[in-house]
Amino acid sequence: MKIICIGRNYAEHAKEMNAELPSVPMFFMKADVSILRPGAPFFYPNFSKDVHYECELVVKINRVGKNIAEKFAHKYYDEIGLGIDFTARDLQQKCKEKGHPWEIAKSFEGSSPISKEFISKSELELANINFSLKKNGETVQKGNTSNMIFNTDQLISYVSRFMTLKKGDLIYTGTPSGVGSVKIGDELKGFIGEQEMFLVKIK
Ligand code: MG
Repeated sequence: MKIICIGRNYAEHAKEMNAELPSVPMFFMKADVSILRPGAPFFYPNFSKDVHYECELVVKINRVGKNIAEKFAHKYYDEIGLGIDFTARDLQQKCKEKGHPWEIAKSFEGSSPISKEFISKSELELANINFSLKKNGETVQKGNTSNMIFNTDQLISYVSRFMTLKKGDLIYTGTPSGVGSVKIGDELKGFIGEQEMFLVKIK
Protein backbone atom coordinates (compact mmCIF):
# COMPACT_ATOMS: atom_id res chain seq x y z
CA MET A 1 0.00 0.00 0.00
CA LYS A 2 1.32 3.42 -0.78
CA ILE A 3 0.47 6.81 0.58
CA ILE A 4 0.57 9.68 -1.86
CA CYS A 5 0.36 13.22 -0.55
CA ILE A 6 -0.44 16.27 -2.62
CA GLY A 7 1.38 19.48 -1.77
CA ARG A 8 0.10 23.03 -2.23
CA ASN A 9 -3.35 22.10 -3.48
CA TYR A 10 -5.12 25.02 -1.79
CA ALA A 11 -4.05 28.52 -2.78
CA GLU A 12 -4.50 30.02 0.69
CA HIS A 13 -2.20 27.36 2.18
CA ALA A 14 0.44 27.90 -0.53
CA LYS A 15 0.29 31.58 0.34
CA GLU A 16 0.76 31.01 4.08
CA MET A 17 3.82 28.87 3.25
CA ASN A 18 5.19 31.56 0.91
CA ALA A 19 5.11 28.96 -1.86
CA GLU A 20 4.27 29.44 -5.51
CA LEU A 21 1.07 27.96 -6.89
CA PRO A 22 1.81 24.75 -8.77
CA SER A 23 1.01 24.55 -12.49
CA VAL A 24 0.83 20.74 -12.26
CA PRO A 25 0.07 18.71 -9.12
CA MET A 26 2.97 18.26 -6.74
CA PHE A 27 3.12 14.99 -4.87
CA PHE A 28 5.33 13.05 -2.50
CA MET A 29 5.12 9.70 -0.75
CA LYS A 30 4.86 8.58 2.84
CA ALA A 31 5.76 5.14 4.17
CA ASP A 32 3.05 2.66 5.17
CA VAL A 33 4.32 2.81 8.78
CA SER A 34 3.43 6.50 8.87
CA ILE A 35 -0.24 5.46 9.15
CA LEU A 36 -1.54 6.07 12.66
CA ARG A 37 -4.16 3.50 13.56
CA PRO A 38 -7.56 5.12 14.21
CA GLY A 39 -7.88 5.95 17.89
CA ALA A 40 -4.18 5.58 18.62
CA PRO A 41 -2.37 8.52 20.21
CA PHE A 42 0.30 10.45 18.37
CA PHE A 43 3.57 10.43 20.27
CA TYR A 44 5.44 13.68 19.79
CA PRO A 45 8.73 12.72 18.10
CA ASN A 46 11.99 13.58 19.82
CA PHE A 47 13.64 14.80 16.60
CA SER A 48 11.41 17.83 16.11
CA LYS A 49 10.40 20.89 18.08
CA ASP A 50 7.76 22.09 15.62
CA VAL A 51 5.31 19.42 14.47
CA HIS A 52 2.40 20.85 12.49
CA TYR A 53 -1.03 19.38 11.69
CA GLU A 54 -2.28 19.45 8.10
CA CYS A 55 -5.87 18.19 7.89
CA GLU A 56 -6.64 16.61 4.51
CA LEU A 57 -9.36 14.69 2.72
CA VAL A 58 -8.14 11.21 1.85
CA VAL A 59 -9.18 9.24 -1.22
CA LYS A 60 -8.95 5.46 -1.12
CA ILE A 61 -8.14 3.80 -4.45
CA ASN A 62 -10.41 0.84 -5.18
CA ARG A 63 -8.74 -0.91 -8.15
CA VAL A 64 -5.54 -1.13 -10.12
CA GLY A 65 -4.98 1.55 -12.70
CA LYS A 66 -2.24 3.11 -14.78
CA ASN A 67 -2.35 6.12 -17.10
CA ILE A 68 -5.91 6.79 -16.02
CA ALA A 69 -7.71 9.36 -18.14
CA GLU A 70 -9.26 12.16 -16.10
CA LYS A 71 -12.73 11.32 -17.37
CA PHE A 72 -12.43 7.77 -16.01
CA ALA A 73 -10.70 8.65 -12.73
CA HIS A 74 -13.98 8.64 -10.78
CA LYS A 75 -14.16 4.86 -11.31
CA TYR A 76 -11.02 4.39 -9.24
CA TYR A 77 -12.38 5.47 -5.87
CA ASP A 78 -15.62 5.02 -3.96
CA GLU A 79 -14.88 6.50 -0.56
CA ILE A 80 -13.42 9.55 1.06
CA GLY A 81 -11.96 9.76 4.54
CA LEU A 82 -10.07 12.33 6.53
CA GLY A 83 -6.54 12.36 7.85
CA ILE A 84 -3.65 14.44 9.03
CA ASP A 85 -0.37 14.87 7.20
CA PHE A 86 1.78 15.61 10.26
CA THR A 87 4.87 17.55 9.30
CA ALA A 88 8.02 18.27 11.29
CA ARG A 89 8.12 21.85 10.02
CA ASP A 90 11.57 22.61 11.41
CA LEU A 91 13.11 19.60 9.66
CA GLN A 92 11.15 20.32 6.49
CA GLN A 93 12.47 23.87 6.42
CA LYS A 94 16.06 22.60 6.66
CA CYS A 95 15.43 20.04 3.91
CA LYS A 96 13.98 22.75 1.68
CA GLU A 97 16.93 25.07 2.27
CA LYS A 98 19.40 22.33 1.39
CA GLY A 99 17.35 20.96 -1.48
CA HIS A 100 17.20 17.61 0.31
CA PRO A 101 14.36 15.11 0.17
CA TRP A 102 11.96 15.65 3.07
CA GLU A 103 11.01 12.12 4.20
CA ILE A 104 12.37 12.74 7.71
CA ALA A 105 9.97 15.68 8.01
CA LYS A 106 6.93 13.98 6.50
CA SER A 107 7.14 10.21 6.44
CA PHE A 108 8.03 9.37 10.01
CA GLU A 109 6.30 6.74 12.14
CA GLY A 110 2.71 7.67 12.96
CA SER A 111 2.72 10.88 10.92
CA SER A 112 -0.42 9.95 8.97
CA PRO A 113 -3.50 9.64 11.17
CA ILE A 114 -6.47 8.35 9.21
CA SER A 115 -10.18 8.16 9.96
CA LYS A 116 -11.67 4.79 10.75
CA GLU A 117 -14.74 5.50 8.65
CA PHE A 118 -14.72 6.48 5.02
CA ILE A 119 -17.81 8.10 3.50
CA SER A 120 -19.24 6.76 0.26
CA LYS A 121 -18.78 9.37 -2.44
CA SER A 122 -22.41 8.83 -3.44
CA GLU A 123 -23.32 10.57 -0.16
CA LEU A 124 -21.13 13.58 -0.90
CA GLU A 125 -21.27 16.47 -3.30
CA LEU A 126 -17.68 15.99 -4.46
CA ALA A 127 -17.06 19.54 -5.65
CA ASN A 128 -18.44 20.99 -2.42
CA ILE A 129 -17.22 18.96 0.55
CA ASN A 130 -16.65 20.90 3.74
CA PHE A 131 -14.09 19.58 6.18
CA SER A 132 -12.50 21.04 9.26
CA LEU A 133 -10.12 20.47 12.12
CA LYS A 134 -10.56 21.47 15.74
CA LYS A 135 -7.63 21.79 18.11
CA ASN A 136 -8.70 21.61 21.76
CA GLY A 137 -12.26 22.45 20.70
CA GLU A 138 -11.39 25.47 18.58
CA THR A 139 -11.68 25.33 14.78
CA VAL A 140 -8.23 25.89 13.27
CA GLN A 141 -8.69 24.69 9.70
CA LYS A 142 -11.66 24.85 7.35
CA GLY A 143 -11.56 23.53 3.82
CA ASN A 144 -13.88 23.04 0.92
CA THR A 145 -13.11 20.96 -2.15
CA SER A 146 -14.24 23.81 -4.40
CA ASN A 147 -10.98 25.51 -3.42
CA MET A 148 -8.74 22.67 -4.54
CA ILE A 149 -6.37 23.72 -7.29
CA PHE A 150 -6.51 20.18 -8.73
CA ASN A 151 -9.57 18.06 -8.05
CA THR A 152 -9.44 14.38 -7.16
CA ASP A 153 -9.94 13.18 -10.73
CA GLN A 154 -7.08 15.35 -11.95
CA LEU A 155 -4.87 14.10 -9.12
CA ILE A 156 -5.58 10.44 -9.85
CA SER A 157 -4.97 10.96 -13.55
CA TYR A 158 -1.72 12.81 -12.94
CA VAL A 159 -0.22 10.45 -10.35
CA SER A 160 -1.13 7.38 -12.43
CA ARG A 161 1.03 8.67 -15.30
CA PHE A 162 4.06 8.03 -13.10
CA MET A 163 3.08 4.99 -11.07
CA THR A 164 0.41 2.32 -11.10
CA LEU A 165 -2.25 2.93 -8.48
CA LYS A 166 -3.40 -0.12 -6.58
CA LYS A 167 -6.39 -1.03 -4.47
CA GLY A 168 -5.94 0.35 -0.96
CA ASP A 169 -3.57 3.14 -1.91
CA LEU A 170 -4.38 6.42 -0.17
CA ILE A 171 -4.14 9.89 -1.61
CA TYR A 172 -3.97 12.74 0.91
CA THR A 173 -5.33 15.52 -1.25
CA GLY A 174 -3.72 18.58 0.32
CA THR A 175 -4.41 20.89 3.20
CA PRO A 176 -6.23 24.22 3.39
CA SER A 177 -4.79 27.21 5.25
CA GLY A 178 -4.57 27.35 9.02
CA VAL A 179 -1.81 24.80 9.59
CA GLY A 180 -0.13 25.14 12.96
CA SER A 181 1.84 23.45 15.66
CA VAL A 182 0.78 20.88 18.24
CA LYS A 183 2.11 20.19 21.68
CA ILE A 184 1.79 17.33 24.11
CA GLY A 185 -1.70 17.32 25.62
CA ASP A 186 -3.45 18.73 22.54
CA GLU A 187 -6.48 17.01 21.01
CA LEU A 188 -7.25 17.17 17.30
CA LYS A 189 -10.73 16.39 16.01
CA GLY A 190 -11.46 16.17 12.31
CA PHE A 191 -14.82 16.59 10.61
CA ILE A 192 -16.32 16.06 7.19
CA GLY A 193 -19.34 18.32 7.23
CA GLU A 194 -20.73 17.84 10.74
CA GLN A 195 -19.56 14.25 11.03
CA GLU A 196 -16.70 13.59 13.41
CA MET A 197 -14.10 11.50 11.60
CA PHE A 198 -11.20 11.19 14.05
CA LEU A 199 -9.82 12.21 17.40
CA VAL A 200 -6.05 12.26 17.82
CA LYS A 201 -4.48 12.89 21.21
CA ILE A 202 -0.93 14.18 21.28
CA LYS A 203 1.16 12.39 23.91
MG1 MG B 1 0.03 18.01 3.40
